[in-house]
Formats: sequence, structure tokens, C-alpha cells
Amino acid sequence: MSLSNSLVQQDLSSHIHPFTNLARHKEVGPTVIEKGDGVYVIDNNGRSYIEAMSGLWSVALGFSEDRLVKAATQQMETLPYYHSFTHKTHAPAIKLAAKLAELAPGDLNHVHFTNSGSEANDTVIKLVWYMNNALGRPQKKKFLARQQGYHGSTIASASLTGLPRSHRDFDLPAIPVRHLTAPYFYRFGLSGETEAEFVERLAQELETVIDEEGPETIAAFIGEPVIAAGGVIPAPEGYWQRVEAICRQHDIVLIADEIITAFGRLGTMFGCQYYGFQPDIMVLSKQLTSSYQPLAAIVISDAISEVLTENSGRIGSFAHGFTTTGHPVATAVALENLNIIEERQLVDHAKVVGARLQAGLNGLASHPLVGDVRTVGLMGGVELVADKETRRMFDPRGALGGYIFRQAHEHGLIVRNIYDTIAFCPPLIISEKHVSTVIDAFAGTLDDAAKWVR
Ligand code: PLP
Repeated sequence: MSLSNSLVQQDLSSHIHPFTNLARHKEVGPTVIEKGDGVYVIDNNGRSYIEAMSGLWSVALGFSEDRLVKAATQQMETLPYYHSFTHKTHAPAIKLAAKLAELAPGDLNHVHFTNSGSEANDTVIKLVWYMNNALGRPQKKKFLARQQGYHGSTIASASLTGLPRSHRDFDLPAIPVRHLTAPYFYRFGLSGETEAEFVERLAQELETVIDEEGPETIAAFIGEPVIAAGGVIPAPEGYWQRVEAICRQHDIVLIADEIITAFGRLGTMFGCQYYGFQPDIMVLSKQLTSSYQPLAAIVISDAISEVLTENSGRIGSFAHGFTTTGHPVATAVALENLNIIEERQLVDHAKVVGARLQAGLNGLASHPLVGDVRTVGLMGGVELVADKETRRMFDPRGALGGYIFRQAHEHGLIVRNIYDTIAFCPPLIISEKHVSTVIDAFAGTLDDAAKWVR
């Protein structure tokens, strides 16, 4: 048996994959990725693919950035591990906290680290509860999130997630949460309704839910500036300003889950800057280290940090954290990653190549299978429909998207399908030429799909 076959066999017999149809996996087997090279990855059969999803929306610097390897190696050689419990710490965690506090807008000046985005959102829930107990309002504990929002997989963060499959048979949600309508104008806008009227309707819904539940019971609103894993749904104009104003009015903590949108994805350092709102808490991960190391960060306002500090003084400890919180190798890699993003002006670069990606995807809008093209910064979603006029979805939902996901491999392209929406989120370092490669490969895949559906 060849090595590749033995790897495949071992995968099938021993490895439970995340976010995978495990039954189907037994039939189709794994794609084993062996090597990275810039915006390309290469499988164990030597086949190369342009990675139009940056792995999981995350590999900002592509798959072979030597400086990140060097930063990790150097830190491994100097101090491979230390923790930050009980007053100890180390330089990479300190410097990264200071750097993020400097970059973050407004009074977001205090940083706490976790290992993953899900852990970060779980931690945020605990912080907000801790804060409200400290402020003597123990009933103010409910969360507001959106349908189709994605906030993670742990028990509490998956409860915030608004995707039915993240709840089904997992006995979730397990925390008090209400999921509001996603700002998804193409699907949820009413016939004849303008986008501005749609935003107003969603704002009314938010007010109504707060009123029904009682503002004294609502702790926080969490949202991704752009809903990503739930279908690539950029917020309509004015949406975030309305949400921000309503949260302020009712003393509701506004949490921006910037795990995908931070560090240049929208052509701004943070997604909230693109949309012009100021969160009280921002959650970061993914492009923070280009995912070369697992790391997430929660950036907290002065006011919230003050309450946490006082309350931990009263209790005797801020009793939360993980063995690998602020891991030195991960934080060292993050610092170098942010240095590179700044040195190479990748936030501005994302704007330029983003415009090229947007033009390329919009150029496919007239294709018979394409119902909607949604783009923002260096990100896009192409929603495929059975009928352009009526916007009728394919039945079964996701079958065509699944075909495209697989068929794109034949064109040397990696994309992701969210049911029948095809997502694009290439590395920030992508060139205009490589954006054209993505668009051409996708156009070829769409043409194959048109034959397949006939
Ligand atoms: N929040 C958002 C917006 C995400 O996109 C993700 C991951 O895709 C998460 C949270 C969860 O992060 P992790 O997978 O690191 O737990």
C-alpha cells in the first residue's frame, strides 16, 4: 500500500473530522493537503489548488510565510512555554496585548487571550455575566444574536450561533439567547421593500424583542460585522448604526465578533471601522496569526475592564483562563504577522485586490445559475438559484453547492459552499493576477454545473 493510501485508510479508520458529513466521508474519503506555497496548497498527489478561502477564512499571509516560521522557531528556542496565571507573564503576550490595544478603535484598550474563537466567545459570555453580577443586576444575562450568525462550537458559543445544524441533537442553545432576523436583504427583504425600509424593520424587531424580554434582562448583542459562515451576508447600509443606537439606549453591551473581519479583510483594520460603529467588546482570531498558531483575543473597553478588575479584587481572583492562554509561540507569531500586515500595507492591498474580486464575481451575475452576488472588501458570496426571477432555491438545498465545491477541485480551485452560496475569502496577499485565476476557475466550474443541473 502506498503512503497516500495508508494515510487515507488511517484517516477513514481513526479520524473524526469537524464540520463533515461523517457518513459521506466514509464514501468520498479525505483530500490530504501536504504542502503550502503562497496562495496555493498542494495535495498528496502533487495536485495544486488556489486557496480562495484562505483555509478557514484565516490564512492572511498565505501558506508559506517564512518570517512566521522564524518567529515561531525563535520563540520555541527561547521560551517555548510559559503561562500568565497569578501575576506571571512573558514579553510576546505583553507586546501583543499592547499592540492590539493600540490598533483597536475607541476605548478598547484591554486584551485577554484564548486559544480559539469559540473559547473567546464563551469567555465573553462569562465576562458579561461577571460584570452584570458585579454591577448588582444579576437578572441582566440574556444574549441577542442573529439567525445564520456563527460564533463557534463550544456549548455557549454554539448557543449564540444561529445555524440549526449547530444546535440539532446537541441540546442547544444552552444559554438564554434570542436569535433575530439576519440582515439578509436578498432572502428576507419583502417584495417592494427598499433596503432602508428593511433595516428599519430589523431595528423594530430588535426593539420589540428587547421590550418583550425587558431591557433589564438583556446583557449583550453579538454579531459579525459581515455574517460569513452563515452565507456571506454584508450588513446593509445603516444597519450597524441602528443596532448600536438601540444597544446604547438600553445599556446592552455591543460585541463585534471580528474573528473573520479583523486585520484588513474589509479593506479596513477592523470590520466595525468599515461599517462605522463602536463596539464595547471585539473578538479577534484567525488572521491574528494567519492561523499558523491557535490564538484568539478579546479586546474590552475601559469601562468593562474597570468592573472586572474591581470585582476580581472583591472575590480574590479573576478565576478564568486556560493553561495555554496567551501562549508565547502563538503571541510571537501574531506580533510578526501584524508587523508584516503593516509593513506590506496589506489592509490597503486588500482594498485593491478586493475591488478586482468584486468586479470578477459581479461579472458572473448574468450567469443563469447566479441569483445574487454579495461582496465586501476581499470577500464574496455567490448565491445559486434554480430560478433567477422567483429566487427559488435548488431542491435539495445545497446539492448544487456541494457539486461546485467538489468540481472546483477539477479546476484547481478551493472554495466553500454554504448550501448553495459559494464563498470566496482569499489570502490578503493574493495578487490581481491570482484573483483572475480564481474567477476563471470558478466560471469554468459554473459552466460545468450548468450542464450538471440540466
Ligand atoms: N466567530 C466567527 C465569526 C467565526 O467565523 C468562527 C470560526 O469560523 C468562530 C467564531 C469560532 O472560532 P474557532 O473556530 O476558532 O473556535
